[in-house]
Amino acid sequence: MVFSWLYPKYCCGCQKEGSWLCASCQDKLTLARAKFYPLKPLNDQASVFKYQGAVKNLIYKFKYRFVREAGDILINQALKRIKTTPHLKRFFRIVGEKKAILIPISLHWYRFNWRGFNQTEIIAQALADEFGLKMDKQILLRPRLTWAQADLDRSDRQKNIQKAFKLEPYRQIKHKSFLLVDDVLTSGETIKSAAELFRKRQADWLGAFSLAG
Ligand SMILES: [Zn+2]
Repeated sequence: MVFSWLYPKYCCGCQKEGSWLCASCQDKLTLARAKFYPLKPLNDQASVFKYQGAVKNLIYKFKYRFVREAGDILINQALKRIKTTPHLKRFFRIVGEKKAILIPISLHWYRFNWRGFNQTEIIAQALADEFGLKMDKQILLRPRLTWAQADLDRSDRQKNIQKAFKLEPYRQIKHKSFLLVDDVLTSGETIKSAAELFRKRQADWLGAFSLAG
């Protein structure tokens, strides 16, 4: 139990005391641009916000400071934007039509126990609830303990990711559609290596979604 009166909240955008995101900063979050050329082998991809400013700070709080509320605030803001932004609405209409199964991605699974929650699972679950879709966290397996990506150079990072994932061998992948969900999608190396595994098993439609990118 964390006592909020001992740890006051400061806006992740302007530092004003009282909440993790004040009303005026809520209105100023910058949307990410629509992605017309998704990374191979994805069919489509979408991020809601640009990974900067208040969004970056909220994700940091959620991911590394374990502030669940910061994540919930950002997820709610993202859901609002999804309903009102044409390219995001279109993206989720396709996800719905394909009945895509939501797959949360996290390389940092070994941190799960001491954190008590997996941030990408929370995001995927919120989307699943909102759009009446299924989430499955048993398909994409992470059998290897991977090093924190930031500690590695580029080529080691790619090797590190390639060996990080495995698909559950007995699940049906062929002809099914999947939406890979992450918190941040920047270079996309993680998503790509996971997507390739689904492609090899002849998945139908493959998409990627992140809160920020
Ligand atoms: Zn603010």
